[in-house]
Amino acid sequence: MLEKVLIANRGEIALRVLRACKELGIKTVAVHSTADQDLMHVRLSDESVCIGPPSATESYLNIPAIISAMEVTDADAVHPGYGFLAENADFAEQVENSGFIFIGPKAETIRAMGDKVSAIEIMRDAGVPTVPGSNGPLDDNNDRTLELAKQIGYPVIIKAAAGGGGRGMRVVHNEAALLKAIYVTQSEAKSFFGSGVVYLEKFLENPRHVEIQVIGDGNGDAVHLGDRDCSLQRRHQKVLEEAPAPGIPDDIRNAVAKTCVDACKKMKYRGAGTLEFLYQDEKFYFIEMNTRVQVEHPVTEMITNVDIVREQLRIASGLPLSVTQEDIVQRGHSFECRINAEDPASFIPSPGKVNLFHAPGGPGIRVDSHLYSGYTVPPYYDSLIAKLISYGSTREQALTRMQTALDEILIDGIKSNTALQRDLVRDSEFQKGGVNIHYLEHKLNS
Ligand code: ADP
Repeated sequence: MLEKVLIANRGEIALRVLRACKELGIKTVAVHSTADQDLMHVRLSDESVCIGPPSATESYLNIPAIISAMEVTDADAVHPGYGFLAENADFAEQVENSGFIFIGPKAETIRAMGDKVSAIEIMRDAGVPTVPGSNGPLDDNNDRTLELAKQIGYPVIIKAAAGGGGRGMRVVHNEAALLKAIYVTQSEAKSFFGSGVVYLEKFLENPRHVEIQVIGDGNGDAVHLGDRDCSLQRRHQKVLEEAPAPGIPDDIRNAVAKTCVDACKKMKYRGAGTLEFLYQDEKFYFIEMNTRVQVEHPVTEMITNVDIVREQLRIASGLPLSVTQEDIVQRGHSFECRINAEDPASFIPSPGKVNLFHAPGGPGIRVDSHLYSGYTVPPYYDSLIAKLISYGSTREQALTRMQTALDEILIDGIKSNTALQRDLVRDSEFQKGGVNIHYLEHKLNS
């Protein structure tokens, strides 16, 4: 087992990793910016190192500072959490070249999945269903591109291979607009992401976002932990997630999960990962893979009883997976509400001092949060301050428990989106299950 892990992140995920380390008897090192010395996990870790000023580029994204902190504290491994350097292949490579363990996939896997064109190619070859499209970058043969789009049928979407965070995409509704849209997306992609490579796929009009959680041991063994529905999004940001995704026939669900496991076995995937799909008319279409632990991992933990962060730490220690596919039984239902420090109407971030924080509780309620009364939410980072997770033996029970928990939670001093979450869990369409990715924005705009 690893002896000492450096946590290269902040907020709730840093605390989540710290807790998993403690459970396994692993010592912890927190690294933090000058704005973050009062973070909960910094207080609870065995050691802490200040790695720079508030700006993330100079602290949480500062690779030399983080590697130096590993050297100074004699840590064995680094857990990147999500965001920041979690999907930075150069970071993973430099960590390993410096003689440390990166808790995540090999750098080459991160790099391959970071390029959407290569990710789609790898998945398609392994039998994972993908979106009908160009199956590779668009070249300057305009006649062929026009013909391809006609065959696929409009609308189509042009996407940057290096795109991310919902940027570098353009929907095209007819032939007359195609070539110009490709040109514009290429030049934008070049300036945003440093690569003008774009590809084309069918634009699905009313899909749901359904993703499959996988874990691989890096030696060819892999399992899946079922699916999650993350369709409630605003500006491509997930707001409320659940597991399992409601209303999907079991044979379809199981078949796609099996293709994900096959793909992970084939590429000897190491660590936790998520294959993201669009789901429409009972079909799954792969869009991308995230090579890290995700914000919404707790809903999967609740229904499978598998601790995903613990598995990450075990795998990085060179241990086999602690479960076989047969061991994994999914029971009940789980929801996660993301609580953000933001104005519920304008969505403008609302940092500041939390005068009082009261966390809800009771059967089937889990709160992953670094908040405490008197803590000041700094203005420099993501506004996620808490994840409220509910479990029930049925979807209805999990939802009722979430309603109660949202009524109990108290965050005084700063604004948060709890009112929006209270409204969502009482929304009659959402309660039925299976709303698509446009539902939340339509609701907010109506
Ligand atoms: P990013 O890495 O920027 O998040 P994704 O490929 O995951 O990009 O796509 C982000 C979102 O864009 C999806 O969740 C979906 O809402 C929309 N999208 C992407 N591809 C398609 C498609 N082929 N049809 C419809 N919507 C799409």
